[in-house]
Amino acid sequence: MNEFQLIDAFVAAFHPPPPPLGPGDDCAVLPPARALTCVTTDALVEGVHFTRRTFSFEDIGHKALAVNLSDLAAMGARPRWALCALGLPDGVNATELRAVAKGMAALAKVHGVELLGGNVTRAQQLSLTLTLGGVVPPGRQPLLRSGARPGDVLYTSGFLGDAAAALHLASHRRPVPRALALAQRRPSPHLAWGLAAAPFASSAVDVSDGLVQDLGHVCAASSAGAELERVALPLSPTLREAVPPPVAQRLALSGGEDYVLLVSVPARRATAFERAVAKRHLDAHRIGRISEVPGVRVDGLPFRGPGGFQHRP
Ligand SMILES: [Mg+2]
Repeated sequence: MNEFQLIDAFVAAFHPPPPPLGPGDDCAVLPPARALTCVTTDALVEGVHFTRRTFSFEDIGHKALAVNLSDLAAMGARPRWALCALGLPDGVNATELRAVAKGMAALAKVHGVELLGGNVTRAQQLSLTLTLGGVVPPGRQPLLRSGARPGDVLYTSGFLGDAAAALHLASHRRPVPRALALAQRRPSPHLAWGLAAAPFASSAVDVSDGLVQDLGHVCAASSAGAELERVALPLSPTLREAVPPPVAQRLALSGGEDYVLLVSVPARRATAFERAVAKRHLDAHRIGRISEVPGVRVDGLPFRGPGGFQHRP
């Protein structure tokens, strides 16, 4: 297949919007936005973020989009459009490329993302570099890392450590429960949660490199610190069953690839926030507080463990 046939095979999965917005011209044309647009870009690279031994082609397409959507969720933005640059090694055929597109298109449909353009190039390994745009709802400001203040309550939008546990178990040649494998291969970006949290949150970040590391970014940007409690770490029932408590806590604190949101909420708004989230049938896990002492402390002690996630397949 030549380059143009490969592009056609990929784009066919997306039901592109009519001109001038659809792909096929020299530039993508963005839809008009009456509010601030958040733009993010992130790559998924074979051998760094995934291997074809453990990921299906559909998993690869899903995850490449999911990690970018998670960044939009953290800003309190509604996703709108995507550009996709593909690096294709020799030997990837049209069927496999269609499977990548299918995995991506299914998630794009769920979140209303239109593929507006992209690029294909030959490469040493399979890679997908996506650029996504999303719009902040009118009258709102994007959520930033810099707004946390001492006394604010910290919440996550979901369980921590599941994806890291999948890698941990596989590296010890132990069976990986399906729920943990899916957490790593098919993360679900928490867009509805980000929109629900936006009116209440003073800061937000998505947890992609490990809780302590990403919370550390919030603390640095906000000139503050944070206190976490081990007993409050949200651990899934599957994770609790799969590994002993100290391992589960370590994976939750610094494992990475969680793709849940972490927000700070001023204490006086915490109850209203919890109610608003519950009304949408979403979970908010209270994990600690923002403090004046710089750095991240766990059970009152400075966190000395690994600072976070080193990218591995
Ligand atoms: Mg992020």
